[in-house]
Amino acid sequence: MMAAAFAELELDWRYLKLPVPPERFAETVRALPGSGYVGANVTVPHKLAAHDLARERSPAATAIGAANTLTFSNGVIEADNTDAGGFLDALGEPPAGLRALVLGAGGAARAVVWALREAGAAEVAVWNRTPERAEALARELGARPAARPEPADLLVNATPVGLGPSDSLAELGLDILDPPAVVVDLVYGAEPTPVERWASRGGGRVVGGLEVLVRQGARSLELWTGREAPIEAMRAAASSPA
Ligand code: NAP
Repeated sequence: MMAAAFAELELDWRYLKLPVPPERFAETVRALPGSGYVGANVTVPHKLAAHDLARERSPAATAIGAANTLTFSNGVIEADNTDAGGFLDALGEPPAGLRALVLGAGGAARAVVWALREAGAAEVAVWNRTPERAEALARELGARPAARPEPADLLVNATPVGLGPSDSLAELGLDILDPPAVVVDLVYGAEPTPVERWASRGGGRVVGGLEVLVRQGARSLELWTGREAPIEAMRAAASSPA
């Protein structure tokens, strides 16, 4: 996806995978600016460390407490979280006034809950398999913990349920719930996912995890290059089989 974007923008850049153990994360990142890197995407389990390491942080990274994007500007490490804005871009229509239900209380759920609150959702409820984590997240980000999945206008699956071939809707309590008008499933890979199939049954709008991936990547690219991301080329590359 990034290679396609660089080609489209005629940039002779490379996007490289750097497998880094947690104990080497800080020293590796600090070495990148001097090695010609302009930035980095950071994924699990390094998102908290990326936030802590940065000298400057965007409002999103600060509020969410985690970063998925680092930009190196004159040797200064700046942290951002494009999972939040990318989610809103993929959603397309602002969630202002909607009642939202977020499933999960991990890093992705934190970004989604913050984004929904920022964008004016009327109410954000959080359900999680381990209720204490939903309670803590809700308290911190101004949402409401839900004892069980409940009806809403917008539902977001921010758990990995759907990645495994035997994953079932029952794990999320969705087997006994009618699908709402809008459903976003952050899971991507084997689409349509169980949550997407369930959502389609209700005839509502379904936003897949691949679109969220493309949109958060587009925002990272724009931070690094200062140019508009070529969304179509990125989407086409992300959608084509490896
Ligand atoms: P994470 O921090 O590990 O959190 C996982 C969450 O899912 C936890 O709340 C966990 O509950 C819950 N969970 C895990 N297995 C479950 C199950 N079998 N049944 C019910 N709940 C379960 O992961 P994350 O970083 O938030 O990512 C979550 C998912 O979003 C992943 O699939 C990831 O690939 C996807 N994601 C996609 C994008 C995108 O661009 N499309 C971006 C970010 C993340 P407990 O607290 O009870 O363990």
